[in-house]
Amino acid sequence: MTRGVFVQETHKMQRDLEMLAFIKHANIAPTFYHIESAGTDPEVTIEGKPYLMFASNNYLGLSTRPEVIEQAWKGLEKHGLGPGGSRFLCGNIIVLEELDCAIADLVGMEDAITFPTGYMANAAIFKALLDPLFGPLPYRKGAAVIFSDEYNHGTIVDGCRLSYAQKVPFKHNDVNDLSKKLKMFSARNPKMIVTEGVFTPDGELSPLPEIVALAEQYRAILMVDDAHGVGVLGHQGGGTVEHFGLHNGVDIIMGSFDKALGGVGGFLAGKREIIEYLRIVARPYVFSSAVPGVLASGLIESIRLCKEETQLRTKLFQNASYLRTSLNREGFRIMGTEDVPVVPVFLGDERRAIVFAEKLFENGVFSPSFRWPAVPKGKSRIRVTPMATHSETHLRRAVQVFKKVGKELGVI
Ligand code: PMP
Repeated sequence: MTRGVFVQETHKMQRDLEMLAFIKHANIAPTFYHIESAGTDPEVTIEGKPYLMFASNNYLGLSTRPEVIEQAWKGLEKHGLGPGGSRFLCGNIIVLEELDCAIADLVGMEDAITFPTGYMANAAIFKALLDPLFGPLPYRKGAAVIFSDEYNHGTIVDGCRLSYAQKVPFKHNDVNDLSKKLKMFSARNPKMIVTEGVFTPDGELSPLPEIVALAEQYRAILMVDDAHGVGVLGHQGGGTVEHFGLHNGVDIIMGSFDKALGGVGGFLAGKREIIEYLRIVARPYVFSSAVPGVLASGLIESIRLCKEETQLRTKLFQNASYLRTSLNREGFRIMGTEDVPVVPVFLGDERRAIVFAEKLFENGVFSPSFRWPAVPKGKSRIRVTPMATHSETHLRRAVQVFKKVGKELGVI
């Protein structure tokens, strides 16, 4: 290394260390707890002590279901640990095609393409659809416009950034604002609208019927990121689109396997031709590894259970309703509605939320604070996440702890 390069490297490292010191000083560094047991169970062990888990997205408890583990085990024995490459090249094992079909069937679309994470699905879609690589190049570079709810998840934001399309945020769940923004562009601008189906930090559903109507009026492609809706909403767990009965109005459903389906991975589901096209042009699909066979084997079983055991959703909603009603009765400000089985407890100030979560932890409840940059400044909260596997005793105990901490900190 020459002296010049060495000095440059040292300066870079110095700057990184300063940034880390700033993060620590500002007290915005997250705490990484050392969970010794399965992190998806209602009770977890941290440094030898038991805690009630109220932060896992394993909504239906499928992650540790014996049937799922048995199938994953068989998959591991058959396929080994990894896929050996991308599906494009050498990783297109049959169990992945079965997973594509199973998830497409669950969400009620013609076909689906799957990825090792939901992040990759969102990283794939905008570039693939709006900056066409092949064909007669119908779009001028940058002519396409993405209309994105301002509260959309960071993975959507990142995915949009990968495309040349213009990005136009609209006010959260505000169809009037969306309509105003759509009107600003000519019919020649290809348009795409993207919203989440379920906004869990706010405990809200998106106004999907109205958004579908606007997408039809303006001939915009409509995509729903339903990471938190799939498995949770709709009779068979098909998600927000099934809940509203809007299969004909939505072009793309994006979802994650790591929430209600208890695994890890992501997917894009839609019309057969769209998915066929994505298989050729979606960069994370082409250039990165496939879902491992072990995971696909377990996920196919968890999709089956999700579909058949509708009582899991009933239990999840009962648990959420119990928490919502009890915490509300104790005087907490609960955000969102009963339609969403997540219970955000509003606290506001960042410091208050951090201390609140620390006190919950001291009292045996694991539910970290949710704060900027995940939500706007001054709007911190505890996103209490029930699962179908929580018992009445778990829920009662959690409410007692919230009450104790709430009184100690003058929140209630
Ligand atoms: N979209 C939403 C709304 C999410 O909440 C998440 C995960 N938190 C993702 C996408 C990304 O999914 P994954 O964790 O599978 O990468």
